[in-house]
Amino acid sequence: MAEIFELLSMDTPKPLFSYRKYWAQRFGVAPFLPMSRDEMDALGWDRCDVILVTGDAYVDHPSFGMAIIGRLLEAQGFRVGIISQPDWRSADPFRTLGRPNLFFGITAGNMDSMVNRYTADRRIRRNDAYTPNDEGGRRPDRAVIVYAQRVREAWPEAPIVIGGIEASLRRIAHYDYWSDKVRRSVLLDSRADLLLFGNAERALVEVAPRVAAGEHPREIRDVRGTAWLCDGAPADWVVLDSTEVDTPGPVAAHPDPYAVARAAGCAQDVAAGARVVQLPREIPRGHPREHTVIRLPAFEQVRSDPVLYAHASRVLHLETNPGNARALVQRHGDKDVWLNPPPIPLTTSEMDALFDLPYARAPHPSYGGARIPAWEMIRFSVNIMRGCFGGCTFCSITEHEGRIIQSRSEESILREVEEIRDKVEGFTGVVSDLGGPTANMYRMTCKDPEIERSCRRLSCVYPGICKNLNTDHSALIGLYRKARALPGVRKVLIASGLRYDLAVESPEYVRELVTHHVGGYLKIAPEHTENGPLSKMMKPGIGTYDRFKAMFDRFSKEAGKEQYLIPYFIAAHPGTTDEDMLQLALWLKRNGFRADQVQAFLPGPMALATAMWHTGRNPLRGIHRNGGERVHAARGLRARRLHKAFLRYHDPENWPLLRDALQRMGRADLIGNGKRHLVPRYQPAGTGRNGRTSTRPAGRIRTQHTGLKAAGPPGGRRARRPGPKRPG
Ligand code: SF4
Repeated sequence: MAEIFELLSMDTPKPLFSYRKYWAQRFGVAPFLPMSRDEMDALGWDRCDVILVTGDAYVDHPSFGMAIIGRLLEAQGFRVGIISQPDWRSADPFRTLGRPNLFFGITAGNMDSMVNRYTADRRIRRNDAYTPNDEGGRRPDRAVIVYAQRVREAWPEAPIVIGGIEASLRRIAHYDYWSDKVRRSVLLDSRADLLLFGNAERALVEVAPRVAAGEHPREIRDVRGTAWLCDGAPADWVVLDSTEVDTPGPVAAHPDPYAVARAAGCAQDVAAGARVVQLPREIPRGHPREHTVIRLPAFEQVRSDPVLYAHASRVLHLETNPGNARALVQRHGDKDVWLNPPPIPLTTSEMDALFDLPYARAPHPSYGGARIPAWEMIRFSVNIMRGCFGGCTFCSITEHEGRIIQSRSEESILREVEEIRDKVEGFTGVVSDLGGPTANMYRMTCKDPEIERSCRRLSCVYPGICKNLNTDHSALIGLYRKARALPGVRKVLIASGLRYDLAVESPEYVRELVTHHVGGYLKIAPEHTENGPLSKMMKPGIGTYDRFKAMFDRFSKEAGKEQYLIPYFIAAHPGTTDEDMLQLALWLKRNGFRADQVQAFLPGPMALATAMWHTGRNPLRGIHRNGGERVHAARGLRARRLHKAFLRYHDPENWPLLRDALQRMGRADLIGNGKRHLVPRYQPAGTGRNGRTSTRPAGRIRTQHTGLKAAGPPGGRRARRPGPKRPG
């Protein structure tokens, strides 16, 4: 076993496009990757080498995972077929393209299937933006597991490789909000041979040729960004117990699966109630860090012990920097789930080559004229970078794409704008976004690559902007200027979320943005106003928002434009008390904001905030059984409803609930019909009977400038309430 664990080098990896091409390269480039036998015949293929199964409609565009992976494999010479949104009730749709020569690649699509199918209140969604005509119900719950099971049924001998965000975020034992329990790694339920986590390009270009050369995916053990099942660590690896990295305190005994494992620590050996004794790290002098694996508490332990769950989450997140992350291993019954360190980020030239692949930039023709909302949203936009160093705890981008920004070159981005202009039907001269996970992290890096490699921080901008972070916005400003100067481009909008704490570091950038790239409204996400929840989100204080707003207003005025900020907030995030929500509601009222759409915290798999929500502990700090910070979370339906009601304090449906809460909180002084009150004493006829938040159509924060009319509430009697103020 030991010989298959090669050293996982931290050095520069092999360039993405330098691998020897597969013989099938002679078939050339497919106009679309085939979804049927007829299309394969037209291409002259007898078989596919790789078949990708996906929960999304197939749109041949680099914003869609199956397209980027499919085109990358095609560039390596492989013949790639797509099975998109198959009917999972039978194995037949999984036989459509035959058995692939190499393996099936299975993904749930661009979103976790449970996030896609259910609301934050666990209600089923009727629509699905990644499906033709926005139709819901075209993918199963836990799509990776279901698709893998059907593939096994159809082709028992075919190797299975899983990837994409669902597999990635469920790679170890994880809390699953929808079943309200800790589930084991998706590797066990899918029985996949290999799991690729994070952005999988590097792993894939390594794995596919090796499978073509005769290796089985389940034998490939030395590729970054992969996870698999095994029986134990090889003899020449040092197994470091995770409780040496972080000290959760006494833990329940769990049978030691490796009597011979070195440095087996207290997660296995300490009986409940015993005093923790830190074992020395038995790492021989000179032993490579790359041959050290951290043993997380077992699935059976984290399932029943919230302290160990929070501890495991903390350790996992500390091991995410590709420059210094160690391998992780977690016991599940009699098997180990082994995670190699995350992939090395792509270089600019690799990003360029990836985005320059011959995408058709359209949905597959078999969809006819069907409207696919996710495609409509991005068809005139350009993705300029990957990754995010913000580290917001409720978001999984950092867990999936990593903290190191991977930027495309200016030339490559401008080339794509020209392609959109020349090829994409319906382009009217307006580029709808030049962005990515955030609008303004383009080309931002740590000032020193050595420091970056050794850094263990979870965010480069929290609790403040790191002094080593280069926050220079000049590359982005230059890009905006060149993009809007291209012939045929009338306007370039910026729709990606702005990191305003970075933006205020560059008034020149804010001026450029406000003067040329805002279409009347700019969405930004302070997420809250109070320090309690903000500190659990790892978001900046509301004072930074005020600084940004002052700049925004000043530059808008200078440009002679009437433009407004639309702030977004999250209700019921861990760390949020009723008092915090009350203060947020008062802030909204003072500033004249009325939210049409209310966003409640959704505990997605693997997020740090989910660990807080599930365990009531704060994994941002050390985890200790008898100490450490406790985190309050509004878990019950009624508590969550109240937090959402505070965000929509102006909705009469919420007034009875808010009056009750204000009485209970000793803030009856806020009930009344004056300007200083939050909710009136009267109740309009026909409203507020069920104490539920209303289900108005989704919209945005509404101000008098975004369509709010000073009309009375429904039910006849006109409300005497203060008119909304102009922001600022
Ligand atoms: S040293 Fe600072 S800027 Fe560099 S990676 Fe770490 S947190 Fe980010």
